[in-house]
Amino acid sequence: MQKNVLVVGAGIGGLATALRLSKKGYKVEIIEKNSQAGGRLNQLKKDGFTFDVGPSFFSMSYEFTEFAKECNIELPFKYVELDPLYSVNFNKSSKTYHLFKDIHKLSEQFADVEVDFEKKVEKYLKKCQGLFEDTVDLVIKQNFNSMLHYVITLMRVNPMHLPVLFRNFWQQVDRHFESPEAKQIISLVAFFLGRTPFDTSAIYSLLSYTEFKHDGYYNVEGGMYKIVEGIIDELKKENVTITYNTEIVDFNSNGKKLNYLIDQNNKQWNSDIILINSDAAVFRGSVFKRPKFSIENLDKKEWTMGYLTIYIGVKCKLPQVNHHNYYLGNNFKDYAQEVHKNPDSLEKPYYYVNVLSKYNAECAPEGCESLFFVCPVPDLRHKPNWDDRDKIVDSIISDFSERIGKDIAPEIISKTVFTPLEWEMQFNLHRGSGLGLSHSMMQIGAFRPKNYDEVFKNIFYVGASTIPGAGLPMAIISSKLAFERIETFSEKK
Ligand SMILES: Cc1cc2nc3c(=O)[nH]c(=O)nc-3n(C[C@H](O)[C@H](O)[C@H](O)COP(=O)(O)OP(=O)(O)OC[C@H]3O[C@@H](n4cnc5c(N)ncnc54)[C@H](O)[C@@H]3O)c2cc1C
Repeated sequence: MQKNVLVVGAGIGGLATALRLSKKGYKVEIIEKNSQAGGRLNQLKKDGFTFDVGPSFFSMSYEFTEFAKECNIELPFKYVELDPLYSVNFNKSSKTYHLFKDIHKLSEQFADVEVDFEKKVEKYLKKCQGLFEDTVDLVIKQNFNSMLHYVITLMRVNPMHLPVLFRNFWQQVDRHFESPEAKQIISLVAFFLGRTPFDTSAIYSLLSYTEFKHDGYYNVEGGMYKIVEGIIDELKKENVTITYNTEIVDFNSNGKKLNYLIDQNNKQWNSDIILINSDAAVFRGSVFKRPKFSIENLDKKEWTMGYLTIYIGVKCKLPQVNHHNYYLGNNFKDYAQEVHKNPDSLEKPYYYVNVLSKYNAECAPEGCESLFFVCPVPDLRHKPNWDDRDKIVDSIISDFSERIGKDIAPEIISKTVFTPLEWEMQFNLHRGSGLGLSHSMMQIGAFRPKNYDEVFKNIFYVGASTIPGAGLPMAIISSKLAFERIETFSEKK
């Protein structure tokens, strides 16, 4: 008999699993808190400009092509390889580093700061490759049925990687390079995981291999939101409906069996199977009221940083600015050790700028440019008050203007700002943490909130705070792992 599935949340994790399930014959319906699908992978259209709200590129493109193949569809969007991957500029320096995938070209950028860079980076990337190849299929793309299963799996990882377990990302990079420039630039990728090189395990240096050697980075023709639009088109073909402006806030059960979920208008929702795409830790606490996930207990966990994001439309072209750019200060170590808890670090912020209109002319009016700034900031535990947001935003705009040699302030014709307060309110992210639970050793694998519910047998989870973790390719892998759980559950029924 055809089984019904209710998906709570239309983020990329929820949408991708909904497509996998509907293609397998399940009758799927989705409910979403906001008036638009996509979750953090969202789009803002304002004053004639189009902005990507969250992700502006992705790695592991083959996860998307495999997903399309498994759903028996053509990939519903076009992705474009980035080369250079991104550019990096240090404060008070006229030099911009372009991070090319071609290692020889990359090495030329470091010729005046790091002796034998090419030899060193090849050696470093070889180690990263080993880590990637020995863990990705075995540990990252796996459902674990118990802690024992997880531990036994870890014991199968090549023991040569054992020392890496005891180092952080910075220490790993520090073993290979001498110049501050090389160390800082190579370890920047730790920020993509929502933390810093000083509190990210060296295991994640495997990301250096994914960015430089294995697959690189991509963005999407027409903007990242084409991913969401493409998947929704496919869902429509399978008669999957999305009900917007519907937030699950409560539940009813007999203790062991869920009777129904309850939305903000007291409407009851139930189904044979329920998949939660809302943050897996937050939902267990705020909706299921599980003490282990109370606000106080969530506050004790390690979360990824908050983000201050700024969406700016300017009435001029900026040929001197590349597509993906990092603007760093001159106090990397102090900054990185402070940024997630000390609001004073925002006096000299580090930030990322993406120019969507550079290769997508339709995303800005003629002669204009659409800019997206991301600045890592403390989450709301450490900086609950954002009354100073305009001052911080102005300081970023002024720093950026100085670095690119053009004052953009008088050119601004559209401006929208999200602080962690907006991120928390809009997407139910704990204390505005941008990527969800961090990827510390005690919060990954079998230690991460599970993708099946501890109490209700017909409830499953997908997305950034369950396995495997944050980022778009991980959400696609998460959808596969949740799908497999649901299939196993259905077969037993
Ligand atoms: C500023 C920023 C930049 C990023 N940049 C990148 C990048 O460049 N590349 C990359 O790969 N990743 C990036 N990420 C990470 C990426 O966006 C996320 O990992 C991914 O989008 C998470 O998808 P998800 O499905 O897990 O969750 P979400 O996108 O959060 O989706 C969950 C959905 O559930 C809904 N919801 C929540 N609670 C309820 C409820 N109770 N009832 C109903 N609906 C509910 C939410 O509204 C949301 O739509 C970035 C994130 C941020 C914040």
